[in-house]
Amino acid sequence: MGVQTGCLLEASLASPEVVSDLGDRLGVSSLFLRGPMSLPAIESKAPVKPAGGRLPGVRVTEDDSALRSAMDVARGDGMDVYLTIENPLVGSSDWEALLAEDNSGRSTAKIDPDRPLICPNHPKLLGWMADLVVGVYDAYRPTGVLLGDISLGSPGSIDNLFTCWCDLCRARVGELGYDPDQVRIGMQGARTKLADIRPEVAGIPDFGLGLLLDGIGFDIGLMDWFNFRADSVSACLYEMRQALANKDTTVRMAILNKGPTAAMLAGQRREDALRDTTLADAYIPIICGRGSGVPEMLAGHARQVHDAAEGIDEPSALALAARIHGYADVPLPDRIAELDESPTEELLRACAQRELAYTLAAPGDVPRWPAIDFEGLPPNLVGDVANEIKQSGADGILYIGVPQ
Ligand SMILES: [Zn+2]
Repeated sequence: MGVQTGCLLEASLASPEVVSDLGDRLGVSSLFLRGPMSLPAIESKAPVKPAGGRLPGVRVTEDDSALRSAMDVARGDGMDVYLTIENPLVGSSDWEALLAEDNSGRSTAKIDPDRPLICPNHPKLLGWMADLVVGVYDAYRPTGVLLGDISLGSPGSIDNLFTCWCDLCRARVGELGYDPDQVRIGMQGARTKLADIRPEVAGIPDFGLGLLLDGIGFDIGLMDWFNFRADSVSACLYEMRQALANKDTTVRMAILNKGPTAAMLAGQRREDALRDTTLADAYIPIICGRGSGVPEMLAGHARQVHDAAEGIDEPSALALAARIHGYADVPLPDRIAELDESPTEELLRACAQRELAYTLAAPGDVPRWPAIDFEGLPPNLVGDVANEIKQSGADGILYIGVPQ
């Protein structure tokens, strides 16, 4: 069997011309659609009121004709149709009761008012996610559901790394067998020690995660914290997967993730998504373009080091962040802002190659479909990365958006 090809796009863009062109030109056999849905049967079960037309994980509307006609067009062309549930862990500042907080007690509405995080352990949210996935299935009967980048925010934001630490999450830490005090001390220690990095460190050529851990101590609490965040995100996945399987065992569920390097810091644990099909039928990491998380993560951590440690200039801070995350040999800019605002083609290509290798190296039975989000990417770069994916032994490829 050849490499499967999918394309994810807004339903409003999926005209008959665009869809048949995707089939003819790229061999797209699965169309992944996102767009507002009409879900009157379950809206009353939502844990919050709609804000700006959104509920956790979904945009709602009374007129879903764009989505329905896009589904008809794709099916008419013989394609499988997946519908997208957006990251239910990013919310609205209006949903105060559900919002997460970091370990200094700050609400995420203060940290990131435009994209505040929702507490992944809120029982009302967990119940809603099961209702949502079943509601989407009942209303539209798709081939499958795509969970769009379910994660705890941007891996480049240091504050997000220490979220959520609300009363519910602290109780959950204990219930899952972790030591809440040890975790709390590990989190605080890591934040403090990051600010104590000495300038000389930036000049060590092979500085890596091992040396960083050596520097801040083999902190079990911090490791437990990262595991706990991933436990929480995976529990959301499990809730949805099981609700769907109870409804119809033939419906597939695919998971869109950040690139492997950035995934752990966003609360995504690849072992869970790749291990077996209790959680997913396809694992789709974004390895190139917006959403991969890698340039933002390197820039975010370089900024943290540059701000916290006196005497480390921007190039040294960038080099240090790159080495910590296994990116020592990629071509870095001199200024941090260039990395997340206008990364060079050379850098994006190097990142994509690295992320593809990591994607394929991990063990597990779940098919993997590396994804390219080519908004803003030069077409020749998209073509090159797509060719590398097709020749790599991956099971599929997902284009995000309409390629030129
Ligand atoms: Zn919480």
